[in-house]
Amino acid sequence: MDQVVDAPVRPLDLGLAWRNSFAGLGPAFFTELDAAPLPSPYLVGLNRLLAADMGLDARRLSSADAVEAFTGNRPIEGSQPLASVYSGHQFGVWAGQLGDGRALLLGEVDTPVGAQELQLKGSGRTPYSRMGDGRAVLRSSIREFLGSEAMNGLGIPTTRALLVTGSDAPVRREEIESAAVVTRVAPSFVRFGHFEHFSSRGQNAELAKLADYVIDRFYPGCRATANFSGNAYAALLEQVSERTAALLAQWQAVGFCHGVMNTDNMSILGLTIDYGPFQFLDAFDPGHICNHSDEQGRYAYNRQPNVAYWNLFCLGQALLPLIGDQELALAALESYKTVFPRELEARMRAKLGLTDAQPADRELIEGILRLLAQDRVDYTIFWRRLSHYAGGESAETVRDLFLAREAFDGWMLQYSKRLEAMGRGNAADLMLRTNPKYVLRNHLGELAIRQAKLKDYSEVEDLLALAQAPFGEHPGQDAKAGFPPDWASRIEISCSS
Ligand code: AMP
Ligand code: MG
Repeated sequence: MDQVVDAPVRPLDLGLAWRNSFAGLGPAFFTELDAAPLPSPYLVGLNRLLAADMGLDARRLSSADAVEAFTGNRPIEGSQPLASVYSGHQFGVWAGQLGDGRALLLGEVDTPVGAQELQLKGSGRTPYSRMGDGRAVLRSSIREFLGSEAMNGLGIPTTRALLVTGSDAPVRREEIESAAVVTRVAPSFVRFGHFEHFSSRGQNAELAKLADYVIDRFYPGCRATANFSGNAYAALLEQVSERTAALLAQWQAVGFCHGVMNTDNMSILGLTIDYGPFQFLDAFDPGHICNHSDEQGRYAYNRQPNVAYWNLFCLGQALLPLIGDQELALAALESYKTVFPRELEARMRAKLGLTDAQPADRELIEGILRLLAQDRVDYTIFWRRLSHYAGGESAETVRDLFLAREAFDGWMLQYSKRLEAMGRGNAADLMLRTNPKYVLRNHLGELAIRQAKLKDYSEVEDLLALAQAPFGEHPGQDAKAGFPPDWASRIEISCSS
């Protein structure tokens, strides 16, 4: 009988300069393994802007060879695929070991925008998959592709996505869906949960190795500081607290709900990471819960800032064996409580077009948020219309958004006085650069996904362009800046992805 021998698959050389520093941490941190192939992959979306930033040729990335490689069907020369191990608190409860259950770190490449790690998400089972199938579905992969680019376009720190590929291979969720792989890009995918993992097991040598790795690469200033009696690990905790505080201020100001703020979904670099049931608010409802699986509302919009602090507290506890002094750890966390409100106030001032700070601004900010909540006003449309008002247009279109007209008029009087006293000057310019015309609303993503399921990716491409320039006017696309349709509030997005 003839023997069929598979020809060895030659690695694809993309001409990238790989460095793979994470792999240098050693086997306690990961398992090396290859992706599990998917049949007949095709390109769903390509992020040309990111490709250009990274010095990559978009044509080459969309070639059949590259599509095979980024689906995990063919090795990439110089990459060193691995799944990393982490643990974490999920919905406030210690969950023990988790890890990259459906992601593979390919390695790290030198690019014009600095060293970037490339990761495949949805590339098959790993030793950390637990009960999962190691796959990601087309729906959630498109959401991550567009969602992360929307955040980046808004100037909010985030992981990014270079491309999405799909395959008709069936994946079982609530119903049968099809598989997809997202190639994610970030300087590092290290999470709070990586530290919790080694700390919870008393593996202090590994804990120190990880902390030193992160400090050396991303927070070198921690070694030089005289703060915390020169304790570099306390300084690291403070730096991460500050970045996380700044990130949360940006989330709150733009109306972003993450949906699953578990400690394993918190980036040590203060990036937005792991786009699951995320949502940009439509109507302003402070208690909005975007994750259908979050029955208690632990991750409701208005709870996010406190949850982030709770998560930092977990990180602090994990770092305690290195910091060596509980008082120092607590002192390092204190920065969150000053940086978050300061950053949020600065962001809200910019939304109002205020270029200086006045004591009465807080009341102006709280006053409008109260009114927006009371009338469930569309958050993005309100700020954009207010920007046009500051630029000289009539206040009527803003007023039309409210039911409580008198209360609104009262607020508007105070606001106008404040603008006049400041001198309108560049208020509208600042506002139009701060208050986006376009956010990736759930229903827009949903419509693009419906078409993508029919293999028409034009809407994904259109939304990507808006996500990358959300402050632009984009004539002809106004409908995507309009009110959401009634059915938008009935979209249910859960942890299932
Ligand atoms: P998440 O809530 O999506 O951040 O995921 C929590 C954990 O579950 C992580 O360890 C993921 O890698 C893992 N996970 C989620 N979905 C899957 C899946 N389909 N297959 C394997 N692991 C998964
Ligand atoms: Mg996750």
